[in-house]
Amino acid sequence: MAPLIRRAASLKDLNTFGIDARAEQLVELRSAAEIPAALAAARAHPPALVLGGGSNLLLTRDLPGTVLRVMLSGRRILDEESGQALVEAAAGEPWHDFVEWTLSLGLCGLENLALIPGTVGASPVQNIGAYGVEMSESFDSLDAISLRDGSARRFERDDCRFGYRESVFRRAGDAQWLVTAVRFRLSRTPRLRLDYGEIRAELHALGVSSPDARDVCRAVCAIRRRKLPDPAVLGNAGSFFRNPVVDAARAERLRAAHPGLPVHPAEAPGRAKLSAAWLIERCGWKGHRDGDAGVADAHALVLVNHGQASGAQILALAERIRASVRERFGVELEPEPLVVPDSEAPPPRRTRQ
Ligand SMILES: Cc1cc2nc3c(=O)[nH]c(=O)nc-3n(C[C@H](O)[C@H](O)[C@H](O)COP(=O)(O)OP(=O)(O)OC[C@H]3O[C@@H](n4cnc5c(N)ncnc54)[C@H](O)[C@@H]3O)c2cc1C
Repeated sequence: MAPLIRRAASLKDLNTFGIDARAEQLVELRSAAEIPAALAAARAHPPALVLGGGSNLLLTRDLPGTVLRVMLSGRRILDEESGQALVEAAAGEPWHDFVEWTLSLGLCGLENLALIPGTVGASPVQNIGAYGVEMSESFDSLDAISLRDGSARRFERDDCRFGYRESVFRRAGDAQWLVTAVRFRLSRTPRLRLDYGEIRAELHALGVSSPDARDVCRAVCAIRRRKLPDPAVLGNAGSFFRNPVVDAARAERLRAAHPGLPVHPAEAPGRAKLSAAWLIERCGWKGHRDGDAGVADAHALVLVNHGQASGAQILALAERIRASVRERFGVELEPEPLVVPDSEAPPPRRTRQ
């Protein structure tokens, strides 16, 4: 079966920054039967970029090659035993709808990750996390296809090398994979995680004294709606920088020099995570605006497009923010979204529209 292919396709509505960039070729992958033809089309026009919901990308200019938009759908319970269910969702399923579906079945584990934009297929790529929980904690395995040679592979948890906003699928130098389906192991017995951020206070405000997983989902959604700009209204990709992970001793020295700096334990022993939002706010960037590229009023970590900003303008603002944090605190910030194309990519070939 042939997938839908468009040339010089606008990506403006396919990335949450709302950047007006074009793909030399856009291939929409809607069913497993279309995969061989989609891969052939991508191989004929390299390089390939796999696109989900476009909520963790910064497009800095028109993209050469092929954008493979993953729209595979479907979700099901594969197995259930002793109160544990194995569920599977196709890569193009919207993440939040999937979370709500699991909760409607009485399955717990993903409630703290509610309302994260994007698709199920992208969730392992940066091991999405929020409110003290990471996707990898419920992850079972995934299916992927190599963009290089079309071979299929199943990845178990250890194969994915999950870390903080990190996995094998993000690391440079690895083969490029197209995730087609992800499986999660969820429980009928809730193990609620309420101690992060304002979850308890929000539950209290909602009048809930003995919460279940659906209450936690409601509380998380309410907090997120209040704190984060809605990309449908103000273009953004959520947090633009990861929280920097540094040596624990260095974190303590920084905290001594800058009282109030939030420092959290990192997964790796001897390491600590600093609050990127705090560092950026202290450098005076919150609410800053350079033309249509800006920093959200309510959240220093969120870069926004006020309307017509180009990806290059947002990237330039990000570079200025990085430089000021480096200068004041000696700390290096790393972008969380994928910046594409990277500076070495050739410009797109001219195509007729
Ligand atoms: C308002 C807002 C809030 C956010 N909050 C959070 C948060 O709390 N926690 C968090 O972790 N993230 C957050 N994000 C970032 C983003 O939502 C997640 O990273 C999400 O998983 C990206 O999904 P996507 O489908 O939009 O991926 P895309 O942006 O389309 O792609 C992101 C990366 O994944 C790759 N990719 C996408 N689909 C596939 C696939 N099927 N196979 C292989 N590779 C693929 C892409 O090539 C790219 O490298 C937020 C974003 C926004 C806009």
